[in-house]
Amino acid sequence: MTSLFNDNDLWGPLDPSADAGYGEDRPARKGFFTDTSICIGCKACEVACKEWNDVPADHFDMTATSYDNSHSLNANQWRHVAFVERPAGPAPVDLGMPGVAPTDAVSAGSTAGGAGSTAGGLLDNGADAAPDFRWLMSSDVCKHCTHAACLDVCPTGSLFRSEFGTVVVQDDICNGCGYCVPACPYGVISRREGPDGSRNVGIAQKCTLCYDRLDAGKTPACAQACPTQSIQFGDVEELRERADARVAQLHEAGVMDARLYGNDPDDGVGGAGAFFLLLDEPEVYGMPPDPVVTTKDLPQMFRRATTAAVVMFAGAALSFLGRRP
Ligand code: SF4
Ligand code: SF4
Ligand code: SF4
Repeated sequence: MTSLFNDNDLWGPLDPSADAGYGEDRPARKGFFTDTSICIGCKACEVACKEWNDVPADHFDMTATSYDNSHSLNANQWRHVAFVERPAGPAPVDLGMPGVAPTDAVSAGSTAGGAGSTAGGLLDNGADAAPDFRWLMSSDVCKHCTHAACLDVCPTGSLFRSEFGTVVVQDDICNGCGYCVPACPYGVISRREGPDGSRNVGIAQKCTLCYDRLDAGKTPACAQACPTQSIQFGDVEELRERADARVAQLHEAGVMDARLYGNDPDDGVGGAGAFFLLLDEPEVYGMPPDPVVTTKDLPQMFRRATTAAVVMFAGAALSFLGRRP
């Protein structure tokens, strides 16, 4: 039976911009490698994103569960830096980040209260004052999935695949139906609800990977603002190699918890355009452990629905044929 879909349309490794019809002269796929091991939680990325994209600054208050004050990704928060407090891990490793502790304290391994929680080093008063917790910080963003369910379900074409392989919302085409919101396996996209007077209220909003800046040959605002290069922007293939090398370097340094998230083209979304180096399980950072594109089973559902319809009509036809005149 022929299908509305090719086998690989909704699942598996793919060059998304080629699949969307861009020609041989298309640019290389662009994305982010976010190395959370060197994030210091300054939130410059959040601010730069809001400023460049004119995203309203509202709903800032302390969560009461951490030092985070911006809660989560949402229509008014296209970047979100999570602050996660965890018990101190094994003997910390100096990741080469700046701190204010005396040199001997740093070499004694008290920079961060645990591998990778760099900002903890700023609190150190010496080896004896090593905190019993560590901070994990991670700047989250839209994953610009290879197979993007938000885009698959959008009935207006407001969400589209750019020539850079990214997923972009066109504000003036979105009708606010909200189908994309439950379709995203990461909970990234949502409709703007306010504040009063802000633009695009009712419209689906998320990171565009600074499509306007990419079009002008510029680096996205968040990556440009990041002082530690925790957010690295570039060609996805090259970023994947860089990420593999960084994990190997951290493992060699004894940070055995370092792992990549979203970099595998064989994962549930065909690999993310924005992927991460984490220092703990994804759930610790509020990320789903094994996300799967929610439209993956559409071809199978269509096939089954078509089969059911054919059987039903055949049964009805047979019942009429079998009737006596
Ligand atoms: S993370 Fe969600 S909003 Fe972003 S491209 Fe993937 S499905 Fe769409
Ligand atoms: S790429 Fe642009 S839109 Fe996306 S989070 Fe960074 S600054 Fe915001
Ligand atoms: S700007 Fe860089 S270091 Fe600062 S919070 Fe964002 S990712 Fe972390």
